[in-house]
Amino acid sequence: MPLRETLEAMSWDPSQPNSIERLQVVYKVAERCNLNCSYCYYYNIGDSTALQRPAKASLSGTKNFARWLAEGCEELGIPQVLISFHGGEPMLMRAKEFAQTCDILARTLSPVVDLGFSIQTNGTLMSEGWFEALKGYQVNVGVSIDGRRADHDRFRLDHQGRSSFNATETAIKRLMDASTQYPHLRPSTISVLNSEVDYRETFRYLRGLGIESMHFLLPDRSADDRTPALEAEAKAIGKGLLTIFEAWMIEDDPDINVRFISETLGFFQIGGPRKQLGRRRKSNQILVARSDETIAIDDSLIPALDWYKTVPEFAIAQNSLRDVFRSPIFGLLENEENRLPSGCVGCPWTQICRGGDLENRYSTTRGFDNPSIYCSTYKVLYQGICELLIQNGYPQPEINRRFGVFDRV
Ligand code: SF4
Repeated sequence: MPLRETLEAMSWDPSQPNSIERLQVVYKVAERCNLNCSYCYYYNIGDSTALQRPAKASLSGTKNFARWLAEGCEELGIPQVLISFHGGEPMLMRAKEFAQTCDILARTLSPVVDLGFSIQTNGTLMSEGWFEALKGYQVNVGVSIDGRRADHDRFRLDHQGRSSFNATETAIKRLMDASTQYPHLRPSTISVLNSEVDYRETFRYLRGLGIESMHFLLPDRSADDRTPALEAEAKAIGKGLLTIFEAWMIEDDPDINVRFISETLGFFQIGGPRKQLGRRRKSNQILVARSDETIAIDDSLIPALDWYKTVPEFAIAQNSLRDVFRSPIFGLLENEENRLPSGCVGCPWTQICRGGDLENRYSTTRGFDNPSIYCSTYKVLYQGICELLIQNGYPQPEINRRFGVFDRV
């Protein structure tokens, strides 16, 4: 990392006023789920602590949380807050209670910050009451769907083993219909990747529903999960992502936003940043607020479970938002993100991949100093994207300048 960026990263302190530009708080308003997805880290793979917390956030708890957050944002000069309602399944809360929750948050926080709401749901409990609440409080909606029926039903079953596909698809269709009048209801989707899925068909299916914003998630795994079978799966997932990229290119509509594509292509912009190894400064922060009025760090790190179990938690009755950001954990995460795993040295893709996401780099013996468990996914994907870009007229000397990769492969 260049010296100036290194010094900036070292001197940056989120507990100092005006250091955070945007705070996202994942608010766990319901800590249980009506589905029983087999890949879910919260209930089925490693972390069941949610079951020890109250099933739902209470209104009095929301009042405490809203006040705490407003005071903290004022003290730290945070201008923008996004509250993302998550679960479990947030729609296990009654719609009326959800509207009251939004009302409390809006009244308390809007005078202090630029406030936005979003929700991530499986869509199966979407009622008229929920539609009204989502409309009324300008809540952006994300729906979890893994693709066509057979692909969705592979993992996303309820506690009796029944399909959730029809209910989820119906919710998406209703949201799409409503979005002609209320554009914020146009849903985005999240799909967990699987090596056995034909992603050309998944892309077509989601586009057929009218989805314009999609996000494909790597399954939650850490570097401890590495096996020959998983290696083969990681390669197949890379091919699947490449298939999505091809389908996206064929459609050739810049308004279709697939998150990994926009993140990757940002790197290929001519004249754009050549080197991204010095990761973004964490001026955008993520916290998790839970039903028991405790605060945790970003729970996307949960696959690093042995480590995640040891990280500090905070109680809003005892710790201010500034106290939370005084924790050394944020500096530690910043350092780990900026440190290239030693096993990645010499890889042509370091500038774009940076060793992968932290949670997929973790092992109990080496901490975060491992190439991602999805290393092969990235190699297949980046190689394929370079080839497709060259076939479509992107200058090969530019690729060689960035990666030298076509000299080596
Ligand atoms: S592709 Fe693999 S080796 Fe290369 S930077 Fe990414 S994780 Fe590291």
